[in-house]
Amino acid sequence: MRRLAVLFDLDNTLVDRAGKLADWAAEFTTRHGLGDEERTYVLGMLAERASPSTFDAIRTRLRLSAPTPELWRSYRSEIAARVSCPAEVLGGLDELRAAGWRVGVATNGAADIQWAKLRATGIAEHVDGVVVSEEVGARKPEMRHFEMALARCGAVPGEGGWMVGDDPGTDIVGGRSAGLHTIWVANGHGRAPQAPAPDHTVPHVRAAIDILLLRTADHVGIAS
Ligand SMILES: [Mg+2]
Repeated sequence: MRRLAVLFDLDNTLVDRAGKLADWAAEFTTRHGLGDEERTYVLGMLAERASPSTFDAIRTRLRLSAPTPELWRSYRSEIAARVSCPAEVLGGLDELRAAGWRVGVATNGAADIQWAKLRATGIAEHVDGVVVSEEVGARKPEMRHFEMALARCGAVPGEGGWMVGDDPGTDIVGGRSAGLHTIWVANGHGRAPQAPAPDHTVPHVRAAIDILLLRTADHVGIAS
């Protein structure tokens, strides 16, 4: 029988990274005796992605005395402690699995911080499989990233799975290229996807889960 599969992006889809990052940057610059200009710089550096090498650059530019590994470790634990996944979303992941869906996370980033967030929020215990780009050497929108994420969930590429995410390029264009249906999560910010348009646009991830739950019967109908 055909397996229903859905992959979720992590940052700004399952967890609110952007909001928590802004709070963290304010605290970080205050702690180091820095001002608004430096806070804007730090936020800009970390907006798209964060890794130890990002902190190398920040350390040099802001002339921080703490070594890079220490800055990275603090960032990792402080961000993991700040982000959360709403109970209604964790519950929704369980509802999907109970309805027969294989549920995975497909995320770009460094393995240590992405796993710190997945564990701290509890998400790791509510999904069947996770792919973090650094672990597999393939970033979204590369097709291989999606294929490996599906495989880790016990699903098969080409069977009409779904990708849910907030990034028009990596999640929506990438998901579509990998043969997945897509749901774009606006989350009150971000650039709306142009072409290819997502199958659905929703304000937040719980609404995406509700659409998938409603479509379960369609998929089962196709399968039987
Ligand atoms: Mg995202």
